[in-house]
Amino acid sequence: MTRTLSNRITTLTPGGSDGWEVFYRARQMAEAGEDVIELTIGEHDIRTAPDILSAMHDAARGGHTGYAAVPGTTALRDTVAARIADRTGVPTTRDNILVTAGGQAGLFAAQHAVCDEGDRALFIDPYYTTYPGTIRGVGALPVPVLARPEQGFQPNRADIEAAAHGAKSLLINTPNNPTGAVYSRATLEGIAAACAAHDLWLISDEVYDTQVWEGDHLSPRALPDMADRTLVVGSMSKSHAMTGSRVGWVCGPEEVIDHLLNLATHTTYGVPGYIQDAAVFALNQGVAAEEKVAAPFRRRRAIAHDLLARQNTVRAAPAQGAMYVMLDIRATGLSGSEFAHRLLDEAGIAVMPGDSFGAGGAGHVRVAMTVEDAAFEAAMTRLLDFAATVRG
Ligand code: PMP
Repeated sequence: MTRTLSNRITTLTPGGSDGWEVFYRARQMAEAGEDVIELTIGEHDIRTAPDILSAMHDAARGGHTGYAAVPGTTALRDTVAARIADRTGVPTTRDNILVTAGGQAGLFAAQHAVCDEGDRALFIDPYYTTYPGTIRGVGALPVPVLARPEQGFQPNRADIEAAAHGAKSLLINTPNNPTGAVYSRATLEGIAAACAAHDLWLISDEVYDTQVWEGDHLSPRALPDMADRTLVVGSMSKSHAMTGSRVGWVCGPEEVIDHLLNLATHTTYGVPGYIQDAAVFALNQGVAAEEKVAAPFRRRRAIAHDLLARQNTVRAAPAQGAMYVMLDIRATGLSGSEFAHRLLDEAGIAVMPGDSFGAGGAGHVRVAMTVEDAAFEAAMTRLLDFAATVRG
């Protein structure tokens, strides 16, 4: 064939082993009828609340099924802006908001807004799996900056600055997937200082902002002089169990949002109006609705905490937020991937090897707290027993 595909698309993900073998194998085993507990992907075990679905239904029946305004409906942009202003104290209006097809499209848009072909784009490792592909997708070069387990997976200014020469942007995520870290004020101030010193754009993925178990979520956009250089990515997926609705946003300086409107025009041409109406309804239910969605993870995190305290083989990274616990399994002598494969074969439990989230996750496995409490407790117990047996 003489026609070739674009380098951009064929190299979007590097191919080969991607660390997801355990996940695929667990799915196959489950489909073959084997008893497997899947603690792999970040999706709630509850579905979108019926009242949100009713709002969606009413909006669709009411006729909101045509093209919706490309940057998002005025109602949703206003509601998101008010929520952000309220929670961060940073003046925010609809002109700072672009509604996107989930946080993922927001991440892609944000990289598009700030990176040119060949630019260096920093991100913190361990990282959410799509990050490097999102950066490559705009032709930029992904550059990982390690966050260390011995520092609770909080990235530090010196490491960022060491990688920042000639870089254009830095992507961070707090509360963090996969590590569960919630960045402290000191961490975020270090990040802000590094951004100022190297004139970086900061892309702040805050899709887990309603799932905080310890400390407080602080948006770096609220730090002094950061609003002009920060693009916040948000989403209804995690906060309202609306993963399949594909609705999120980018919040940033007006000028950036103006340009991103053009990107939306040429890619998605907006997000369905009835979904946006449902998002407005959901956000108007306030914090109580968010807490209801977060509550199961808060409970399971407490369960994990109790079980972990009764043994000394596996150590937990501080699970401060998000729907995961990151476990340090180095005392077993196994790599994360060996541990995960053997745990699947010998105990029927599927977890993600830490290094599927980058080199920084080595020696760890990520446990998604996404099955009901009793099954979660049983799975964690089996996991810890397995670890103790391997250690001998
Ligand atoms: N960021 C992080 C850290 C995530 O874990 C996810 C989903 N797992 C996303 C962004 C994207 O979520 P969505 O597109 O559903 O908003």
